[in-house]
Amino acid sequence: MKRLNKNDEFIDVTNIYKSIFFADQERIHKYAIINKDGAVYHPDPKRKKIYQWEQSCLYEAKILQKKTKPLSLEYCRKYLNKIIKHEWRLLWRRNSEDAKASLYYGQHSRLIPKLTFNEILPLWKKGWRIHAHASWKIYRKKGEKRTLILDTKLFKKGSPRFTRFHRKINNEHLKKYVEGGHYDEDVNLYDYIDAKMHGKNRIKITYVPNYCVMRLHEKARTKQTMLHELAHLLNTEFQAHNSSFLTILMYLFHKYLKMDYNMMYYSAVFSKLEIDEKHGFFESKKVTDKGMVDWLRFDKKIKN
Ligand SMILES: [Zn+2]
Repeated sequence: MKRLNKNDEFIDVTNIYKSIFFADQERIHKYAIINKDGAVYHPDPKRKKIYQWEQSCLYEAKILQKKTKPLSLEYCRKYLNKIIKHEWRLLWRRNSEDAKASLYYGQHSRLIPKLTFNEILPLWKKGWRIHAHASWKIYRKKGEKRTLILDTKLFKKGSPRFTRFHRKINNEHLKKYVEGGHYDEDVNLYDYIDAKMHGKNRIKITYVPNYCVMRLHEKARTKQTMLHELAHLLNTEFQAHNSSFLTILMYLFHKYLKMDYNMMYYSAVFSKLEIDEKHGFFESKKVTDKGMVDWLRFDKKIKN
């Protein structure tokens, strides 16, 4: 396993986790493109066009013109985690298929046995090249452990892996179950490291949390860049700047930067960029004829 410098508090466990992730054939066949080299990402032909659309919308909304100091990493960490937590759940309620297809769910959630997501950890290190990148690495913090107190019911039904607990749930059986997990080098591949009875109907789980590392150069520590990266986490796995990405980004820009939805929608239409109108985050009610007229008039004003 690749380690960081001796004094670094985080350990890179990406390779171990990615190998499990890539072993998930069902997800690969659903979301990736299969060719002779195996599973590959979908082509990303609209990347530059989406960047242009994004820049012009940010300019139109007078966001680009503002000179702001880079946000602190601590601020970014809070901002990113608050939004992903809230928006993933909201997407689940609006369209659970979209939520289940998301990169964040596919690569950064675990059943312990409660659905638990990796916290986003914004980081920057010298030598990294791309200024902003979601889901770059999976890290663990040295010696960190967390606990969950769960109802025994969760062990009886739900995930098929717990069917072995049809017998009595007690400390002895829980211990055997935890010890049945296997290790790859010093990383426990099992979802948790300890499980004990906690009162009569509860189980206390101890597990090691993982972090979803987001590369964030100082220049990228702005709300608009973080929202762009969050849109990647909420978008389908194995896809980059496609129609659902654009739909999610429009939704986030409107909600968190108060950008005009019609302006973004019609700018995309006129740039011949496809919007996924079936996506859970498409705000059909916000697209209006009046909105388009208002935006075009606004455009005329600038020309005069
Ligand atoms: Zn991007």
